Amino acid sequence: MSITIALAGNPNSGKSTLFNELTGSNQYVGNWPGVTVEKKTGMYKKDKEVHFTDLPGIYSLSPYTLEEVVSRDYLINEKPDVIIDVVDATNIERNLYLTTQLLELGIPVVIALNMMDVVRKNNDAIDVKKLEKSLGCKVVEISALRNENIPELIETAKSVAGTGEPKYQRFSPEIESYINEIENFKVIENEKAKRWLAVKMFENDEKVLKEFPLYGNETKRLNEIIAKAEEDFDDDGEGIITDERYNFVSEVSKESVKKGRKGMTTSDKIDKVVTNRFLAIPIFAGIITLVYILAINIVGGPVTDWVNDVFFGEWIGEGFRGFLEAQGASEFLTSLLVDGIIGGVGAVLGFLPVIATLFLFISILEDVGYMARIAFILDRVFRKFGLSGKSFIPILMGTGCSVPAIMGTRTIESDNDRRMTIMMSSFMPCGAKLDVIAMFAAFLGGTWWYAPIWYFGGIMAVVVSGIILKKTKMFSGDPAPFVMELPEYHMPSAKNVLKATWFRCKGFIVKAGTIILLATVVIWFLQSLSLDGTFLDFNADAEDSVLAAIGRFIAPIFAPLGFGNWIASVSTILGLVAKEVVVGTYGVLAGIGEVGAEESPMVALVASQFTTASAFAFVFFNQFTIPCFAAVGAIREEMNSGKWFGFAIGYILIFSYTTAFMIYQFGRVLQGERANFMTAIAGVVLAIYCYFLFRKDRSKIEREKYLKDDKEKVINYESN
Ligand code: GDP
Ligand code: MG
Repeated sequence: MSITIALAGNPNSGKSTLFNELTGSNQYVGNWPGVTVEKKTGMYKKDKEVHFTDLPGIYSLSPYTLEEVVSRDYLINEKPDVIIDVVDATNIERNLYLTTQLLELGIPVVIALNMMDVVRKNNDAIDVKKLEKSLGCKVVEISALRNENIPELIETAKSVAGTGEPKYQRFSPEIESYINEIENFKVIENEKAKRWLAVKMFENDEKVLKEFPLYGNETKRLNEIIAKAEEDFDDDGEGIITDERYNFVSEVSKESVKKGRKGMTTSDKIDKVVTNRFLAIPIFAGIITLVYILAINIVGGPVTDWVNDVFFGEWIGEGFRGFLEAQGASEFLTSLLVDGIIGGVGAVLGFLPVIATLFLFISILEDVGYMARIAFILDRVFRKFGLSGKSFIPILMGTGCSVPAIMGTRTIESDNDRRMTIMMSSFMPCGAKLDVIAMFAAFLGGTWWYAPIWYFGGIMAVVVSGIILKKTKMFSGDPAPFVMELPEYHMPSAKNVLKATWFRCKGFIVKAGTIILLATVVIWFLQSLSLDGTFLDFNADAEDSVLAAIGRFIAPIFAPLGFGNWIASVSTILGLVAKEVVVGTYGVLAGIGEVGAEESPMVALVASQFTTASAFAFVFFNQFTIPCFAAVGAIREEMNSGKWFGFAIGYILIFSYTTAFMIYQFGRVLQGERANFMTAIAGVVLAIYCYFLFRKDRSKIEREKYLKDDKEKVINYESN
């Protein structure tokens, strides 16, 4: 004997998963008659006599949506033999509302308590016996996804087919007596779904009353009942029934669901501390500080000195010079190879240990699962300012390299947020910028806060820019919702970490051997060539070179930022190609220096040109400004619009220039120099920043007003 089973349940309760598991390839997909709501039917793969219909997901049988109409009509008119009510066991209270309605249809119901795998994982427990007793129907625990207990479910369904009307919820006595009376009305007396129809009539449901017209004193009696109930309960029929259903459901779920004392996993325990409302930010700051101190101060100092002075200076540089001289190579060639290429590329590569250390720790933090927490923590803090955690993920990636960070913005759906994130993702100190930072470490360093300041400066730049931009019309809008499943912490895998570190270092080394090498050769030529086209004496300094002339020409641009000397200017401009070139320029110009000198020639060169204030301005300008040609290309590609690209570059230039200007001008005064006209201008710039930061968010005010108007409209409509 063939039987028909309907699968009903809330959206996302797992009906389709179950249906697919049951029917395999024996399924037919079409549309419900007259409407474009998907209709799926199929045969049980283990028994061709059992047919299934997968109903659309619904929260109730009250016909507010097309899906509800389709489901209700099918259940009332086609009268399947059994209903399998698929209930999401992790969300019983919400799911049982529909169950109370299904039970009134006069069709046997079996509850498939789905997602039991999740319930078990959460250490929750569901008292199935109690649930069966309260609801008056069979309950089978399953996991559609894991294919658990499904044959048992079907056996149970088969066993209840034809057993008649299931037990249903009793309402409070007064309502119950009304419903009983309506159940005896002539038109529905012999209907299978008479309980359900009676309830609908009590609710004064137009559609039901049209289909089952009452006549004579029954119409009058129904109206009396409805009027009396409305008076006694101060609510209409539908409201009374809904209320009673909710109370019943909440009672039933309270007594049968036991939330386990969520056996805290180690991850949960760590997160309790690490993402704690008050501790999260200090811990984050502490970890990052430690990483930067390790990279720049601990490894940076001694190891870099050794690599720069001994390895590239004495061993490779001097060794090679000796070799070339022995071969009788020309002074030209020796200078190009030793001072130019080894000096320039060597200076860049000299910081590889620093960068490798940073990359190593970042990779460990990623692999352990901590980086995901940072986005989560920052989201919680900066959501108030309209910034979403989604934006922080690419920005945090910018610590490695801006190019993947810019491409990573593709995960952000909102165009506004995406463009804004692209503009901000290059503010972080990437590996190449770390080169510049490390070059100044010996000059500016010594204090513990020197290293982390660049990272937190980058975060500050992101936050300040984010708040300013978010308040403009162009970028307004609520922050994108950020839902993120935090992965479990696990021990870092040496293989993953080393692979990620190597991958990042490799990029750096390849760049040093190609674009940086090329840039170094160009710089060497320009610094060796005098303005009248002849080569300078290779041991003379480069003051009279073409490079110096170019530098002096652009230096006035940077004078307000405190580094209006030709070397700093020319290195900054060349650094737009790639930030390593800044270091490369200093490397070429300093040469590889004297063997056994107290100070490395590069540090000596830097020290002769900068004060603390101008050094900070120089490094911050280089950190915030256009990072490199590769990143510019990525910005252009991802913006995919000339206008937006131009705006992004313009913003980056203005932001980096004005911040470096303020840093130098205020820094000078802090160093004890006299305040002057420029200090006043810096004050004005600061005031402008404050205005943009703290002004009212116009678009937000408008949006709130709009929502309020809308609400009033609804209220007016309802009271009419
Ligand atoms: P429907 O809207 O009721 O058709 O629900 P679906 O069958 O599309 O399932 C919704 C989501 O729940 C999907 O991502 C399924 O993979 C998932 N899901 C379904 N059943 C289970 C289960 O037993 N355990 C778990 N963990 N996930 C499930
Ligand atoms: Mg579905």
